[in-house]
Amino acid sequence: PSRPPSSQETNMIGKLTEEEFMAKVLAFHGHAAPGVMLGGFLVEAARAGLPEGCLFDVISESRQCLPDAVQILTPCTFGNGWLQVHDYGLYAVVLYDKYTGEGFRAAIDLKKLKNFPETWNWFLKLKTKQEQDDKALRREILEHGAEMISVRPIRMKEEALKHKSKGPIAVCPVCGEAYPAMFGDKCPLCAKGRSYDLL
Ligand code: ZN
Repeated sequence: PSRPPSSQETNMIGKLTEEEFMAKVLAFHGHAAPGVMLGGFLVEAARAGLPEGCLFDVISESRQCLPDAVQILTPCTFGNGWLQVHDYGLYAVVLYDKYTGEGFRAAIDLKKLKNFPETWNWFLKLKTKQEQDDKALRREILEHGAEMISVRPIRMKEEALKHKSKGPIAVCPVCGEAYPAMFGDKCPLCAKGRSYDLL
């Protein structure tokens, strides 16, 4: 750590103070998850490269915590389609101009993370939950989150920029529900089975 923590100064997560950000994390995610907090710094690090007012789409490369950071800090949600979740378990986020496809990928940089022991141990799961000092971990992320990240410019491939339509709709001959016809002659649940029993 390069400087001692100070109670006088407030850390900023984009345009939000630490207090405003944490209130939103609690309201949206339910608890002060370190992953959402660190995710907030990733989102802002990638956004910093985009011009003001840019209409952007987001790819979250993990399905844990990170999508909530995106939904707390940007207009992009899973439901409106401006946030795509790619379940690779990589702690990285891509923000790109939805018209030009130019943007930035922010990721946790292990060379930098090494300087922050609480976050390092938590991120790489080197300590059990019991051994972990939650308060010190959260403090370290709020004070130094921005220093744990590297950002690289990206350009979306043309096929990934195209608007994806779900195409024509069919009616399932088994269950009678409407489904996208691209799945075949039955709906995907009747074709592949369900994770629950219909009672
Ligand atoms: Zn069906």
